[in-house]
Amino acid sequence: MDSHQAARYPFLKGSVSYAEENSADIESLVRLPSYEKARKRGLERVLSAISQHLVSDVPLLQEYDRLMEVLSYPYARMIVSCVNDRFLTKRYALAEASRMNDLLSNDRGSETMVAEELEVGSAIDPEGLVSMHFSDYLRFSHMMKAVEWKLINTDLRGGFVHLDPDKFDRLLQNALQERIESELPLNVPDQFRKAMRNDIDHVIVVLSDTKMKLSPTGGKGVNMDYLPPCIKAILASAQNGVNLPHSARFALVTYLNALGLTYEEIIGLFAQSPDFDESKSSYQIKHITGEERGREGYTPPECATMRTNGICFDPDGLCAKINHPLSYYKIKSGNTQKKEENA
Ligand code: SF4
Repeated sequence: MDSHQAARYPFLKGSVSYAEENSADIESLVRLPSYEKARKRGLERVLSAISQHLVSDVPLLQEYDRLMEVLSYPYARMIVSCVNDRFLTKRYALAEASRMNDLLSNDRGSETMVAEELEVGSAIDPEGLVSMHFSDYLRFSHMMKAVEWKLINTDLRGGFVHLDPDKFDRLLQNALQERIESELPLNVPDQFRKAMRNDIDHVIVVLSDTKMKLSPTGGKGVNMDYLPPCIKAILASAQNGVNLPHSARFALVTYLNALGLTYEEIIGLFAQSPDFDESKSSYQIKHITGEERGREGYTPPECATMRTNGICFDPDGLCAKINHPLSYYKIKSGNTQKKEENA
């Protein structure tokens, strides 16, 4: 693999071989002054993923620049692994995958190689479109919400979907994002963590600041006055011992969890109900917030889903301007920045 391609697509196996052929190993990368440029660039990859959702371009004029660029990728992955935060891992994976998508749009010649590496079965049809089996298409498009990605709206012939290259690149982006998320965290030895301490701490500080800004409460405590009418009504019913349907309980717990309430705080609100059953509520809340599964919690439903489930109670004037109950809180509290992040 040529050095330019290795630097542009550092996740490829050929890029790893390129780095090894140039006598670069992880020990040297982490410790030696001669690899400082790669470490700086690795840190920059992670920081720009957090703050801008992207990995920016750097000049790759010299062979040395390209080697540093290739090495910055494993260093960035090691930082992300050491921080080991699901939000960070997802942001980082998305930024690396978006970067690949951008690069491929001006580098069609590399698409086949990238697709093979990511195990996305595909071929070029006589019309110059990319064809892929519908099962592969579904595997990498299922997370796309826009109607144009529905199988029924594709050019489907004999079990194969025919796509223009831009759309195919978007599916490759999903494949790479999924791949990176599944590979992280890496097992980083303690002696490397020690050497990387400053960069890890830097990322932890920026990450915590970003999370605080994105939080619907802006990092402040939850103010019950800012809750939307639906959540206020459901909460009042729960506290009065009304037996809530699953959809209402789910909406309430996911909402409170998204505002940053802990399991203990949520169960404390339910405990005000006269027929509170801790063992039953405990399991449900832990499952919904992700605590029981050791994972991220579920996302609260949008207004449209709330309406479909018959739990959009007493919408007011502000409700007419929003699509998600979390936006209500953000607007009421004046913390409207990046509201789409959590809505
Ligand atoms: S419009 Fe949305 S926020 Fe308002 S009450 Fe209905 S579901 Fe809740």
